[in-house]
Amino acid sequence: MRVCDLIKQKSPFLSLEFFPPKDKDAWPGFFEVVEKLKVLEPLFASVTYGAGGGTQDNTLEIATRMKHDHGIEPVTHLTSVGASADKLDGFLKSLHDADIENVLALRGDPPQGQDDFDFSAQEFQHATDVIKFIGERYPEMCVGGAAYPEAHPESPSIRSDIDMVALKVEKGARFLVTQLFFDNRLYFDCVDRLQALGVDVPVIPGVLPIMSLKSAKFILGLCGAAIPGNYLSSLEKAHTEGGDDAVYELGIAYATKQAQELIDGGAPGVHLYTLNRAEACLEIGTNLNVK
Ligand code: FAD
Repeated sequence: MRVCDLIKQKSPFLSLEFFPPKDKDAWPGFFEVVEKLKVLEPLFASVTYGAGGGTQDNTLEIATRMKHDHGIEPVTHLTSVGASADKLDGFLKSLHDADIENVLALRGDPPQGQDDFDFSAQEFQHATDVIKFIGERYPEMCVGGAAYPEAHPESPSIRSDIDMVALKVEKGARFLVTQLFFDNRLYFDCVDRLQALGVDVPVIPGVLPIMSLKSAKFILGLCGAAIPGNYLSSLEKAHTEGGDDAVYELGIAYATKQAQELIDGGAPGVHLYTLNRAEACLEIGTNLNVK
């Protein structure tokens, strides 16, 4: 079912993000995690595409199995970097054939080590082009786009980035999922600015439970999101005094409070970045009041 229709039926909700394990030997364990998290009744689960060298076939296969074997509505991510129109069309046709109705349309990052990568030479320069392309070829698909409460790192200003997110909606995005963030004021400000531009689609906030200092630093380095100084100091203090377990506990408590405040403040739901692990999201999900 289309996510844009599901949201009309159930809000607030929880949704989950997974990445396809590269090694197929890890898939049985991965699907055990998916099954464990089903108890949270996620409205949908999104499956990343190509990030960190993962293959697109794996994204398709995992999303298909989520839908048909596990009864979870998938949102398949799709990036256009390095892709031709034929390649994107081939992937979209496979989604259509697998009865997958939701896609998160993204431009993607430059290939690793190519910081001066020239997107102007690409067939699809921006996510807006991908969104338009999908709308023209597969009008029945429910297409989403990414939003950045702290602005995309390449944007010259917060204002210009918000304008581009609004353009995604103008081109056909029916929902938006945000980059992770830790200060809810950034999310509510982003939503206000989008609404002022006439954007009326759901903006689903992405929440990352910090499970260890090492993985948090790695992820924040990749996506460019900022961690508030006082939260970072608390995590470091927890680590010094209580080690990894104390960091984990603090991370879960912070994410739970953050998610509850988002919901209480009017967010349509919360999208949890699971990092393919069940325990943290189970703890957060069962403590949240999303009913
Ligand atoms: P764009 O929307 O194209 O934005 C890139 C820059 O261009 C921004 O500065 C924007 O303001 C500007 N811009 C956008 N449209 C226009 C326009 N029409 N004209 C001029 N400027 C414009 N990466 C992966 O590889 N795989 C994934 O599965 C994945 N999932 C993600 C999920 C979420 C929720 C988010 C937030 C990010 C995800 N990413 C993923 C990372 C993403 O690919 C990067 O953030 C990438 O750098 C930008 O992708 P985008 O779709 O937001 O690009």
